Amino acid sequence: MTQTTRIAIPNKGRLSQPSIDLLRQAGLVFESSSRALAVPVRNMPVEVLFVRADDIPELVHDNVVHYGITGLDLVAEACFDVSLIAELGYGRCDLTVAVDNASTIEAIDEFSGLRVATSHPEIVGRFFTDKNIDVTTIPLKGSVEVAPKLGIADAIVDLVSSGSTLMMNGLRPIATVLESQAALIASGPDVDSPIPTMVKAVVAARRKRYVLMNAPIEALDEIERIIPGADAPTIVPLSQTDKYAVHSVVEADELWNVLPRLESAGASAILVLPINQMIP
Ligand code: AMP
Repeated sequence: MTQTTRIAIPNKGRLSQPSIDLLRQAGLVFESSSRALAVPVRNMPVEVLFVRADDIPELVHDNVVHYGITGLDLVAEACFDVSLIAELGYGRCDLTVAVDNASTIEAIDEFSGLRVATSHPEIVGRFFTDKNIDVTTIPLKGSVEVAPKLGIADAIVDLVSSGSTLMMNGLRPIATVLESQAALIASGPDVDSPIPTMVKAVVAARRKRYVLMNAPIEALDEIERIIPGADAPTIVPLSQTDKYAVHSVVEADELWNVLPRLESAGASAILVLPINQMIP
């Protein structure tokens, strides 16, 4: 009998829906339910477990599941030895040290003797110990950003994405402790499953776009310089005209740099398509 591969993903919070979307784009067909803990994948011997994001490093480490998707901050906080398979490009945030706007503190080396509230006490403890700075860590489960106003801490270390929560709470960033994003982790590098390849193919594809265009022969050299693609662009003659169709792959972030240059080079009927999976 084929062994079922188990993958744990967050059951709520900001990593939950993007993780469901990623697995579905990778080709796994499953129902998502806020009630069910585990759901079978219909088209592969895989089971998806919906659990708390901060329990996932331990479940992976203890081999309860073969794979997990969670935040790198939670992996670092849990201190379990797990293998990082791939960074997934969503759930990006910084674990940031911040102080009250009214504070005179400007730098980390002024933190000696301060009380620091955080929901990541292990990471924060290591950060200040490594710098030989003696602080008192105040562990909080949530609402870390109100701790200075309540008078229970002098500073905080919390996850920041846009910075608007810090601003709303009258806090000023001082330093970044860790850069986080969602990641695929495994109990070891040797789990035998197509899941890493499937997930990495989606992550790679999301950063790319497929572009197609028509162009006259004299424009082809310039177009090839602009969009060299993975190896070289595909160039095929069009029927009933002396033009050519050019196909290539470009970085999604470069798209609006590249498109006007293609147009100037003589390309027309330019199409941009998403890519579902890409194995480089
Ligand atoms: P939550 O949505 O509070 O369950 O957060 C779960 C995980 O989402 C965190 O551990 C981070 O890895 C990630 N995350 C991404 N952006 C943020 C943010 N601005 N604040 C909190 N967590 C974030």
